Amino acid sequence: MNIGILGGGQLARMLALAGIHLNHRFRVLDPSPGACAARVAKQIRGHWEDRNALDQLMATSDVVTFEFENVPANSARYLASQRAFFPPAQALEFAQDRLCEKQLFSSLGIPAAPFQRIDSADDLSRSLAGIGIPAVLKRRTLGYDGKGQVVINSAKAAPDGWEQLGRTPCILESKIHFRREVSIIGVRGQSGEMAFYPVSENTHRDGILRYCIAHPIDPAQNEAQHYCQLILEHLQYVGVLTLELFDTEQGLVANEIAPRVHNSGHWTIEGAATSQFENHVRAILGLPLGETSARGFSAMVNFISTIPRAQEVLAIPDASFHDYGKSPRPGRKLGHATICTQNSARAIQGLTQVLRLAAEKPRTM
Ligand code: ATP
Ligand code: MG
Repeated sequence: MNIGILGGGQLARMLALAGIHLNHRFRVLDPSPGACAARVAKQIRGHWEDRNALDQLMATSDVVTFEFENVPANSARYLASQRAFFPPAQALEFAQDRLCEKQLFSSLGIPAAPFQRIDSADDLSRSLAGIGIPAVLKRRTLGYDGKGQVVINSAKAAPDGWEQLGRTPCILESKIHFRREVSIIGVRGQSGEMAFYPVSENTHRDGILRYCIAHPIDPAQNEAQHYCQLILEHLQYVGVLTLELFDTEQGLVANEIAPRVHNSGHWTIEGAATSQFENHVRAILGLPLGETSARGFSAMVNFISTIPRAQEVLAIPDASFHDYGKSPRPGRKLGHATICTQNSARAIQGLTQVLRLAAEKPRTM
């Protein structure tokens, strides 16, 4: 089959790598010259709003998917009207607007931070009293890697926060006191079958995911899986979906969804029976889903801004190295390493060594 992907970054590249052994061919649509996925897929250079480029992609694709959630709504509708297009365009609408996303959580009874819609500086000062301080002001659209949000620590700081985000429609939500951040990756096939990966424990710094740990069994698994299942079923979803959550004293609190393969699931390439990438490909093609159980203890570290040499990473026992072949730039994800082993102490030891190479401090070890 021919699979078209909107976006040609590392997620598209890993999707293609996971589908090539099943003899599928990939085309990616991306405006940047020499996109990362172009090493393993044919690239169509163009913007995601460009009808000609979309037509070119469709002319060579049996099914179209995407690697990022900010696919322009018109393009998603256009593609979905002419080709098999998965995950469903409706999932994009929820993922693109934090207000709709929070309303989705409430309608499904999934706990989330208390929130208010903010359309003006007045809304903000009024809502702060109800939501309480500290609170997080987030742009409703186009946020990623912690961009487009600001923590409000005092009523006095509110006007600055509103200015800083460009006086654009926002939501204000309580700042959640969490023990840890986790995510769950679920996959739903065309026949409605579902599978869930072991929960991943995620550590962020400056709003960017730094490293993940996935245990074969996590105490938050059942609760996380239940919420993820509610969303997959409600959206009649097809493909991989990620749900990010805060683990608190009172239980899990949903933060956001990503209707796609996710950085917190990179460990599944080596660490799970079937990777998130292969399961996404299987789901959108209507193939049976693969086993999602863990092969052991896994830890994944992102290489951001700089990347170590392969020699250094591969000298660490049980380490796999992924270099996306991207030119270094501050804040850019350039690659990752995964440690996968049967022994949790070895996994933590390997993780500590990789973190040192990534010049990243472990949180608690
Ligand atoms: P990404 O695309 O990387 O997932 P994002 O820009 O979409 O990030 P969020 O996931 O909402 O934004 O927030 C980024 C990080 O900021 C979270 O992982 C968490 O560490 C922190 N954060 C966000 N909202 C809250 C909150 N309500 N309470 C406490 N921390 C928060
Ligand atoms: Mg997030």
